[in-house]
Amino acid sequence: MTIAERLQAVKDTLPDNVELVAVSKYHPVEELMEAYDSGQRLMGENIVQELRTKQPLMPQDVKWHFIGHLQTNKVKYIAPYVTLIHSVDSYHLLEEINRQAQRCGRVIDCLLQLHVAQEETKYGFSPRECLDMLRSQPWSTLSGVRLCGVMCMASNVDDTEHVRSDFRNANDVFNEIKEDFFNNSPHFCIRSWGMSHDYRIAIDEGSNMVRVGTAIFGERNYGL
Ligand SMILES: *Cc1c(COP(=O)(O)O)cnc(C)c1O
Repeated sequence: MTIAERLQAVKDTLPDNVELVAVSKYHPVEELMEAYDSGQRLMGENIVQELRTKQPLMPQDVKWHFIGHLQTNKVKYIAPYVTLIHSVDSYHLLEEINRQAQRCGRVIDCLLQLHVAQEETKYGFSPRECLDMLRSQPWSTLSGVRLCGVMCMASNVDDTEHVRSDFRNANDVFNEIKEDFFNNSPHFCIRSWGMSHDYRIAIDEGSNMVRVGTAIFGERNYGL
């Protein structure tokens, strides 16, 4: 199947309320252009240097989502154009995004990354840390950023019930945050969970933004 066909096959399975981020990391711009020419505009990258290389080569109406771990010293490179940062995992990082956004005269939309998976290595706030941060830090004074929802990755396990319970956990935390801090903020509405192998479960469990790479572009060539 071509990229256009695989993209269409994924889109055919998505309910109308679910946005698709085509995760293009490790794929060359020619392949991104195939998705672009089929109408795809949301693209997700997880390495700053790779995004910096590709962004000038792609049409300017691509909406770039940053989905990987973001080091504070690299925020400045993507601040001028990034549309949504999915991976805010500390208040310190949010402050730096705010600072760089203000330098560019922008307001950058951000998601709080939750750690709900069992793996030790994944980044993100634990549910408790996330709520504590929102209670204790003056995030609402940061006029260069807008918190729009939460993102998570499920445990990398075959047990679908385990994956389901991770997403359910994230959805519960989303609801708690929404109720406690964003009840009057319609823009706080994004639930970013689900990848190629688990996005159907994710949608069952409340996702309205899926990040799909392999199912669209095929296997990644890490030797690139
Ligand atoms: C790579 C990546 C994805 C997409 O993974 P696939 O399995 O290729 O669909 C989604 N989210 C994040 C954070 C990623 O790094």
